[in-house]
Amino acid sequence: MAFEEHPPIPILDAVPALVWSGGPDGRADYVNPSWSRFTGRERCDLIGSGWHSALHPDDLRRVLDALTPAHGETHEFQMAVRVRNSGERYQAFLISISTNPEPRDGSVSFCAAAIKTCNGDEARDASDAPSPDRDSPWTRAPMMVWSARADGYLDFVNDRWMNHTGLTLDEARGSGWQSAIHPDDLNGALLAWRKLIDSRAEGACECRMGSKARGYRWSVSVANPLCDVSGSVIRWYGALLDIEDRKRAEDKLGLSQDCLDDAQRLTRTGSFAFDPRTGALCWSREMYRIYGYEESAKPSLDRILARTHHEDVGNVARVFDQIAVERHDVDTEHRLLMPDGTIKEIRMLAHPVIHRGNLYRYAGTVIDVTEARASARRLQEAHAELAHATRIATLGELTASIAHEVSQPLTAIETNGAASLRWLRRDTPDLQEVTLAIERIRRDARRANDVIRQLRALARKDVSARKPGSINAVIRDALPLAQSQLMRDHVTLELDLDVGLPRIELDVVQMQQVIINLVTNASQAMSGIVDRARKLTMRTLPNDRGGVRVIVRDAGTGFPDNHNETMFTPFFTTKPNGMGMGLSISRTIIESHGGTIWMLNNAGPGAQVIFDLPGLDDRVA
Ligand code: ADP
Repeated sequence: MAFEEHPPIPILDAVPALVWSGGPDGRADYVNPSWSRFTGRERCDLIGSGWHSALHPDDLRRVLDALTPAHGETHEFQMAVRVRNSGERYQAFLISISTNPEPRDGSVSFCAAAIKTCNGDEARDASDAPSPDRDSPWTRAPMMVWSARADGYLDFVNDRWMNHTGLTLDEARGSGWQSAIHPDDLNGALLAWRKLIDSRAEGACECRMGSKARGYRWSVSVANPLCDVSGSVIRWYGALLDIEDRKRAEDKLGLSQDCLDDAQRLTRTGSFAFDPRTGALCWSREMYRIYGYEESAKPSLDRILARTHHEDVGNVARVFDQIAVERHDVDTEHRLLMPDGTIKEIRMLAHPVIHRGNLYRYAGTVIDVTEARASARRLQEAHAELAHATRIATLGELTASIAHEVSQPLTAIETNGAASLRWLRRDTPDLQEVTLAIERIRRDARRANDVIRQLRALARKDVSARKPGSINAVIRDALPLAQSQLMRDHVTLELDLDVGLPRIELDVVQMQQVIINLVTNASQAMSGIVDRARKLTMRTLPNDRGGVRVIVRDAGTGFPDNHNETMFTPFFTTKPNGMGMGLSISRTIIESHGGTIWMLNNAGPGAQVIFDLPGLDDRVA
């Protein structure tokens, strides 16, 4: 088909660039004179498809493809091409083409302009797309900039890059740049670079850049490929940003995060932040360990509840519901049931963070107290064992007293039994006397039985049977066991027991042990006293907090030290055969009943030991 030449366009005829336009199939109807000057061919030879032969065959296909856009839309694109000059050598050009559909018939016309990109330097192959010019603004850009050919061959670095690494462009060219990367980071950087080249995608990698002499600084290198329409990479452009300060801050943060993680792991304390308005939850690494989740799991209230023991789940859900409206501090304990069936005991503490009067979030901790609770239980058991052992030891010491308490009623029974027989054997049996004697026998049998029952209870090992009771009854029941000790030490006992005392919750056996300890101590403290009456007073009275107070007062030697801490320390004793456990165990028992115990020396001779126990109402409150 004959092609009509476009009339000359003065301005385009003068520009130092190849300019041409045409119609469908890439046939030109106008080429400017620069085409002829550059290719050494007549313009008429270039018109139509004549200009095609001036392009490198590898590039022509891409250009022609680009000239026939889908749906005949307006389209603009750039690409690097090689154009053969009058000396039959290829030179690199950057062409810019726009295609426009003809409003008349929808056919596509195009306009194109091409600028030489490397002066005098001939393009050698397809990857030889233009590299930034040494005079381009990139050279003095306030960051490190580089550029590489499609195959990764580096051929441009700017001044800042060279200043930082101490390498010249010639030294950096090709793969020379690798010597500017810290040896420890080189493998990673090369791997990342290889990946980018293969994927032809934009990417980044962090590495230390510099030199041994100048030192290294952390930078992030971002690379971006310039592609043609077919998606082939023409050239890579990259920039390096200095991130040394950020890296240091990150390291510092990382270190303190590690310390925090270690501390949390050691103390088994996880932390969390909860936004009650949105339900958003974030938590620390230890939380994953406590709740047994992978670190990839997204923290959520559902996950917390999923691990909570089914008997406690209602309470925990309620706590989270309440804090959304009430803004109060949280301190709760509950159990977790782990997938392997183990049970963890958890203490959860949280408090609201208020920002400008609004509830901002809840900051909280979760402490795995399983071990601590188990140790506390073991300690409690050990205390109970010890208490039992000392009780047995005390009973051993009180054998004489107990034997006396039992044998006395037995002797009386024997006597009354013999008398009854005598009265019965009379010609006229004296039934009235027999009746009285049998009543005495029953009373004495009860007395002996009581002592044995007390003895059994004290010797038993079972613990903690607390129930409401009267401290006066406990004292009355315990005293017979210590009776013979008092008799041996010639001590007079005076009881002053208030009848209007509140009831208290107590473990009778444990409380009797306290009474026996205190009475025995007081009696022993008076055993050597000769210049005054050996009087022991046991007094009970209501205290001012609705509970009861018990005072065991003696006229003995007084405590060798006025310090409660010394006297109540386990194994502290001034007695040749003492164990030093009496006061210590008494304190444990009283404190486990919610009470307090202390000692003080009298203004005159002797000392007193006092303890308070809470009344039942008090405990309920
Ligand atoms: P132990 O009676 O085996 O020594 P305790 O713990 O009961 O053990 O008492 C510790 C020490 O406290 C006694 O050795 C004694 O020095 C002192 N002590 C206890 N009660 C009295 C008391 N009522 N008067 C004087 N000292 C006492």
